[in-house]
Amino acid sequence: MEQIIKISAKNLGALALEDHCPKCFYLKLRMGFKLPYQIFPGIFSSIDSYSKKITWGCCAKNGKVPQWFDSWGEFVKPVPAPHHSKFNYTDQKTGIKLTGVPDDIFLMEDGRYFIVDYKTAKYTGNQDALLPMYQVQLNGYAYIFEKLGMGEVGGIGLCYYEPQGNAPVEQGIGNLLEQDGFVMPFRAYLKRLELDPDGVLSPLLKQVRSMWDGEQVPAGKEGCKDCKMLGEMVKFGR
Ligand code: SF4
Repeated sequence: MEQIIKISAKNLGALALEDHCPKCFYLKLRMGFKLPYQIFPGIFSSIDSYSKKITWGCCAKNGKVPQWFDSWGEFVKPVPAPHHSKFNYTDQKTGIKLTGVPDDIFLMEDGRYFIVDYKTAKYTGNQDALLPMYQVQLNGYAYIFEKLGMGEVGGIGLCYYEPQGNAPVEQGIGNLLEQDGFVMPFRAYLKRLELDPDGVLSPLLKQVRSMWDGEQVPAGKEGCKDCKMLGEMVKFGR
C-alpha cells in the first residue's frame, strides 16, 4: 500500500494559484506544511471565531441567521461543524487524506447544506488573487462532507468581513467608544463559489501524488530572491 499523504484542503489550494512555486509546494508537502520561521497572527482566528459567535448568537436571539446571508437563499439554521479529527477523507485512487474544517455549515430549506468560510479582509470581488485557492478549499470541504455521508452540499461561499476604515470615525466617534476600548464595525460581503468538488479536486490530488512519488525535486521559480537568500543561509550554517 502506498504511503498516505495528508494535506488540508486549503494547502492543496496553493497548487491552483497562478504564480505558485512547485518547489516550494513540494518542500512544504514533504515537511507536512510545518516550516521554520512561521508566525501566524492569532488575531485572524479570533475574528473568525467571533464572526461565528455573531451568527450563532443571532440565530439564538432572532431564530434566523443574520440578514446579510439572505442573498444565498433561505437558511434554516447553522449546524455544528465536525471536529477536525473526524472531518477528513482518504481518496482511494491517490491515497491522499484531505483534511480541514469549515467555519460554518448552514442547513438550507431544501435539506441540502451550504458551506461557508469567513475571511477577514478587504473585499475586492474577483480581484482577490487568492480566489483560486479558496475555490479548492471550499470544494475540498464539500468533497469531505459528501464523502462522509453527511448530506448533499447545495452551495459554497466566502463571507468577507471587511473592517470599515475611517468612515465610522469621521461620522462621529460617540458610538465607537467604550469604557475600556473602542468598537470597530465590520461589513459583510458575500462571494459564492462554483461547486464542483470532483472536477476541482481530482486533478490536484493526482498532481500531489505524482509530485510525491517523483524522483526529483521540482524546479523553483526563476529568479526567486528568497531561494537565493536561503542558499546563502545554508552556506553560512555549514
Ligand atoms: S524558488 Fe522561491 S518560492 Fe520556490 S522554493 Fe525557492 S524560495 Fe520558495
